Amino acid sequence: MTFIFPPQEPVAALVAGTQDRFAVRRVYCVGRNYAAHAREMGFSDREPPFFFSKPADAVVPVADGQTLELPYPGMTQNFHYEGELVLAIGKSGADIAADQALDYVWGYAVGLDMTRRDLQAQMRDSGHPWEVAKGFDRCAPLSPIHPAAQVGHLDRGGIWLTVNGQPKQKGDIADMIWPVPEIVAHLSRYFRLEPGDLIYTGTPEGVGPVKPGDVIRAGVDRLGELAVRIV
Ligand code: MN
Repeated sequence: MTFIFPPQEPVAALVAGTQDRFAVRRVYCVGRNYAAHAREMGFSDREPPFFFSKPADAVVPVADGQTLELPYPGMTQNFHYEGELVLAIGKSGADIAADQALDYVWGYAVGLDMTRRDLQAQMRDSGHPWEVAKGFDRCAPLSPIHPAAQVGHLDRGGIWLTVNGQPKQKGDIADMIWPVPEIVAHLSRYFRLEPGDLIYTGTPEGVGPVKPGDVIRAGVDRLGELAVRIV
């Protein structure tokens, strides 16, 4: 048996402090997981968060100290950053109980859920899927993953984002509507989780547009910073 075209290699996410790599399998995202962000998007914070996904090959690993050059995508005039805590799954499971859920979280990273905000609004208002707004090429920059065995599990801590040094997002992961164990428990009712899965856990308030030349820096306490320049 021969493949007509060579199969695509998995995205090799970086692991902090080692040469090891984390092969990305699937990328799930949580929508409206911070009440103040739900409100800034024009929604009540009484609705529960929800899931969507990005293609695995939309992830772009970014090393510590590196600034990723990210091309401004076509088909948008309103390209937004969303700084997020990312979970890296290391164990297979479905219907996971919340009090067991941290056993499935192998590590944590900082990610950007880059979004064509104008298309997101159009798709939402017309009842169409979000892929063109949320699942385009290179829309998921990712810092190195820090193993939970080293940094512990994260239930609080600052999350921030600056553009050209100006503060834009400043929150605390303790303010997530679904904290980490609940995200894993809820998601695992819909999809069997497998090692290699990533979960972008949602963004705090303060999302906004960027343009070519802008430098985004996103960080989470204990996980360092992720730097991206729009080109
Ligand atoms: Mn998001």
